[in-house]
Amino acid sequence: MKRDRCGELNLGAAGKRVTLAGWVHAVRDLGSLTFVDLRDASGIVQLVFRGVPEARELAREDVIRVTGTVVRRENPNPHLPTGEVEVAVERLEILAKSKPLPFLPEEEARASEETRLRYRFLDLRRSKMQRNLRLRHKVCLAIRQYLDAHGFIEVETPMLTRSTPEGARDFLVPSRLEPGKFYALPQSPQLFKQILVCSGVERYFQIVRCFRDEDLRADRQPEFTQLDMEMAFLEDPEELFSLLEGLVAHVFAETIGVKIETPFPRIPYDVAMARYGTDKPDLRFGMEILDLSSLLAQVGFQVFARAVQEGGVVRALPIPGGANLSRTELGKLEEAAKKAGLGGLLWLKRREQIESPLSKHVPLSVLEEIVAQARLNLGDLLLLAAGPAKTVAQALGELRLRLARERGLIPPDRWAFAWIVDFPLFKLSEEGRIESEHHPFTSPKDEDLPFLETDPLRVRAKCYDLVLNGVELASGSIRIHRRDLQERVFRVLGIGPDEAERRFGFFLRALEYGAPPHGGIAFGLDRWVMMLAGESSIREVIAFPKTATGACPLTGAPAEVDEAQLRELHIKLDLG
Ligand code: ASP
Repeated sequence: MKRDRCGELNLGAAGKRVTLAGWVHAVRDLGSLTFVDLRDASGIVQLVFRGVPEARELAREDVIRVTGTVVRRENPNPHLPTGEVEVAVERLEILAKSKPLPFLPEEEARASEETRLRYRFLDLRRSKMQRNLRLRHKVCLAIRQYLDAHGFIEVETPMLTRSTPEGARDFLVPSRLEPGKFYALPQSPQLFKQILVCSGVERYFQIVRCFRDEDLRADRQPEFTQLDMEMAFLEDPEELFSLLEGLVAHVFAETIGVKIETPFPRIPYDVAMARYGTDKPDLRFGMEILDLSSLLAQVGFQVFARAVQEGGVVRALPIPGGANLSRTELGKLEEAAKKAGLGGLLWLKRREQIESPLSKHVPLSVLEEIVAQARLNLGDLLLLAAGPAKTVAQALGELRLRLARERGLIPPDRWAFAWIVDFPLFKLSEEGRIESEHHPFTSPKDEDLPFLETDPLRVRAKCYDLVLNGVELASGSIRIHRRDLQERVFRVLGIGPDEAERRFGFFLRALEYGAPPHGGIAFGLDRWVMMLAGESSIREVIAFPKTATGACPLTGAPAEVDEAQLRELHIKLDLG
């Protein structure tokens, strides 16, 4: 359709005859004069109709085509880029009427999320949503430009495949041609990308959909998008880190014009857990947790002494300006700490004098030493906790975040990246089984190999995460590229040779015909775009997302299917 663009009109076009097509954004009917704001993807311009009766019938979101002349506006609108002009319409054509709207696609949609998703075609018309879609497109474009320039090629991998062990439940697709058999939708292209590097694709990437049937949390979707990458001849993760720091800086510069400082800090997992109580620390602010175990084990205070004797720790979290917290507020924090599994929480305030319930049990000189180690300023608060390292870390880590948020201690507009390295290879499941911390294809650290069978939980992995503002942005590892080592790791995981052959035989074979050392990573693309867009939910940057129960209100999926379809698939339902 030959047409001009609404958002591009300005005084330079005054006197020009234009044809515009778009959506009716607003109508103001003054009797003999009707003003209409017309919107297309480029923006909004005011139309003026003089004595055109049909114009009075126009309603929000009708689609029209008009021809008219651009004229200077008597009352310019400084809030609109086209605000100095309007189009005096000579010809109006209604291309499509809109029914009365279930909600107005205004900037701040007031409709419930269910309604917004059901009428997503209206919701996406909002300029914020259009901006998010465009931003997402720009992010993908910048990624492709950068990776192409660095020798990566994008290769597609199957959607109908076998189960990939990323630790979630699979979505299954029944096979019609092989009754009783199922495809799984990929939880990630992990094994395909490893096979690709074994196939001579030395630098692979793919912007790819992954499927995980998990209980949904705020920031999860059953299908989500990864930037997935793999490189042959990667032995030292540093090579990947600097390449990806360049990628991240390129994407930030190209999409939101922000300059990112590189290199990013590297923080070992143990240090992150001790200092921030989490493996995805928010480094936009300080409040580092400090370990007081050796200082406090000997002071004769039972709670501390017992914790350390039992192999636990005593740690403390400084809260800048926190001395003004009341007893009730401190009580609430203690409740939160107890919920997180701690026996209790102690506090110390640096006022003119040190105030703390501890002063009954701990000599003043030790309290002063604590104040010095924690570098407390006048008016600061210190929260102390004792117990098993993991519980203390988690509880103090949660309090660190919560207090920083509540007390406005997180500076806005900061982008704090870090690589977290040296993760453990395995973890214990709730049932006490050994599981992969990342996935079973992650290589153990060479120096820890001797403990693989004897003390597996002490083995560290060649595994890394990229963290941004307390969010895990990407996760990856150097892989095992020899079948014998892969089989040893499977054995520790309780996967015997028969099961390994049955589930991963196709992959193990690829390791037997000259597999190069390799490694890779995957970024959560939805989350990355969400952060760039300044949104707090990934649903705001996905065109057609699912609700928290995995439903699509637009299409009604998941939905029942016909009896005949089930018969073809040899499926009988038992919903009892
Ligand atoms: N496949 C992994 C994941 O989805 C990423 C990787 O190891 O490259 O988390």
